[in-house]
Amino acid sequence: MSTDRTEMPRAASDVGRWDVETDVLVVGYGCAGASAAFEAARAGAEVVVLERASAGGGSSALAGGEIYLGGGTSVQRACGFDDDAEEMAKFLMAALGPDADRAKVTLYAEQSVSHFEWLVERGVPFKPSLWDSPTWVPPTDDGLMWMGENSWPFTEIATPAPRGHRPTSNDFGGWLLMERLTTAVAAVGADVRCDSYVTNLVVGPGGEVVGAVARRYGTEYTVRARRGVVLTTGGFVDNEEMLALHAPQLVGHDKNSDGSDDGRGILMAQAVGAAVKHMSAGQIGISLIPGMIARGMIVNGQGQRFVNEDTYPGLVGQAALYRQGMDVWVIVDEQGYDDVPEPERWGVRPHHVAGTPEELADLIGIPPSGLRTTIDLYNEHAARGEDPFFRKSARWLRPLTPPFAAIDVRMGLRPPSEAGSGRSSGASVFTLGGLHTTVDGEVLDLDARPVPGLFAAGRATSGLHSWGYISGTSLGDGTFFGRRAGLAAARTIH
Ligand SMILES: Cc1cc2nc3c(=O)[nH]c(=O)nc-3n(C[C@H](O)[C@H](O)[C@H](O)COP(=O)(O)OP(=O)(O)OC[C@H]3O[C@@H](n4cnc5c(N)ncnc54)[C@H](O)[C@@H]3O)c2cc1C
Repeated sequence: MSTDRTEMPRAASDVGRWDVETDVLVVGYGCAGASAAFEAARAGAEVVVLERASAGGGSSALAGGEIYLGGGTSVQRACGFDDDAEEMAKFLMAALGPDADRAKVTLYAEQSVSHFEWLVERGVPFKPSLWDSPTWVPPTDDGLMWMGENSWPFTEIATPAPRGHRPTSNDFGGWLLMERLTTAVAAVGADVRCDSYVTNLVVGPGGEVVGAVARRYGTEYTVRARRGVVLTTGGFVDNEEMLALHAPQLVGHDKNSDGSDDGRGILMAQAVGAAVKHMSAGQIGISLIPGMIARGMIVNGQGQRFVNEDTYPGLVGQAALYRQGMDVWVIVDEQGYDDVPEPERWGVRPHHVAGTPEELADLIGIPPSGLRTTIDLYNEHAARGEDPFFRKSARWLRPLTPPFAAIDVRMGLRPPSEAGSGRSSGASVFTLGGLHTTVDGEVLDLDARPVPGLFAAGRATSGLHSWGYISGTSLGDGTFFGRRAGLAAARTIH
């Protein structure tokens, strides 16, 4: 940790004058900040948003755009799926657990249809068509996709329904979500100030948060927030010290962020007594093509499978990093590779090819007998449409035939939104832990009491998740709990 403790709060009595005064101060202008600012301003509060970058967007604008929503949205119904809040909550508790936040998950599922409608009212378009195979981000503009709900063990826990909702954009759509949210924020008259890095909170005599200190082009200025400060500063994957302290297994991997996830918001809140939760948890974007492993397999350094390859690829990534130390290989045959359409391959090609499992194992340095046994057993069961070990869906089961290819996840991917060689650590990660908050975004202290005047949402908080992750739950909980935090701050009377 930094030794100078620069994030320690300032006393209001030491603030000579307030340069800016407002009712609600929102720090950070990604999806959570925009949602908070919108609701606070719509509730009649004066709102200032401070954003360190020269424009809003944050990681939210770089995102795939998948938003986890269900319970019977019009898009789900148009695609022929019945869904209800209870089944959605059951899935989320299992997929985001253990110890997913039950109060948040329950409320989120119960109000998911109305949150979907809120997004539509803000101009976020969703096309009523389904993308129906495993992928990170579909190359089409289909509005709905599966997020592992139809894979084991979730098929035995909750009635499957696809809940990944996508703004109408080919490939990545986070930019469209942010374009529509920032337009909505402008329409309700929030005062957005960019190039403003918030460094410290300001506290009153009773420890209540009454404002913040920001720096703009090297000059410090102060903002008084009469009702509350809402921290929506994102996670801490870009802060090496925090990673080493809280989430050491994420150290050394590529970072899935806009580069501004320095954890400052979390540190500033901790400095006024805030508690944190689930700080070691992370999303693991493993560098593989989900459609390839569904049609083939992923094996560890002993040549053994360790997960059903048709599940949400982030869960494959967690299994690969936390249980196998990223010592993993994708194995696919020619048909499995060819069946993945070129736009979905993101530049991935076979790195080693051989006529037998033993030769392939030799090439990649894993035990030949291990890979031979794995492929023989897989083929024997696949011929009967079964996967007794990991219960991959029969849809993807087919005996693999020579030649076999091995793909090295460390060679990376080239998603359409990114340039570069694609070389990778094998995983691109972001943090899931953060400030301990209520469903209304109140930041709790170590005694689980709200810190007066302090609210938070998005990846600066521990949201729906504990350990597990499903795509769409970040933009989902960021917008949903961002709205609630903004509203709660607007209604606060000190
Ligand atoms: C490539 C990629 C794809 C992804 N795809 C998906 C997806 O499809 N679905 C999904 O749910 N999630 C996805 N994610 C994750 C998701 O984008 C983030 O978790 C989410 O956007 C976080 O939202 P936020 O509002 O909390 O933070 P952000 O959107 O990161 O916004 C935080 C803002 O705060 C600003 N800020 C930070 N510190 C300060 C400070 N001290 N003072 C002032 N401003 C500050 C930052 O500059 C930033 O603009 C993806 C992430 C990436 C990088």
